[in-house]
Amino acid sequence: MCIFCEIVAGNIPSTKVYEDDMILAFKDINPVAPIHIIVVPKEHIDSANSVNTGNSKYVARIFEKIPEIAKSQGIDSYRVINNCGENAGQTVMHLHFHIVGGVKLGEKII
Ligand code: AMP
Ligand code: ZN
Repeated sequence: MCIFCEIVAGNIPSTKVYEDDMILAFKDINPVAPIHIIVVPKEHIDSANSVNTGNSKYVARIFEKIPEIAKSQGIDSYRVINNCGENAGQTVMHLHFHIVGGVKLGEKII
């Protein structure tokens, strides 16, 4: 099992901030901003490259809930980041979206 599947299964502890039948959101262990949440589908999907018509409902659910998750953390302005593949800095090969905020972010990500 990958590390995020282990977190979903409860085998590795995390600080959960949102959970439903399809997705889990938890605090990033190495935050880059005051608010840094990771949102994952409960089904293992390798990366954005592996999203298809059969599993895109997980991505839809994640984006339906991002505003609620952000609001629960006290922010309504934030950056959503997905790193896809090694050259983009993806270190955990389980699709995830970073919600980063709580501070004035730079205008550009690169
Ligand atoms: P990425 O570089 O896009 O693959 O992001 C992976 C993120 O997962 C990094 O920001 C890590 O800090 C975070 N991370 C790795 N292991 C854990 C963990 N056990 N609990 C919470 N966040 C984690
Ligand atoms: Zn996984």
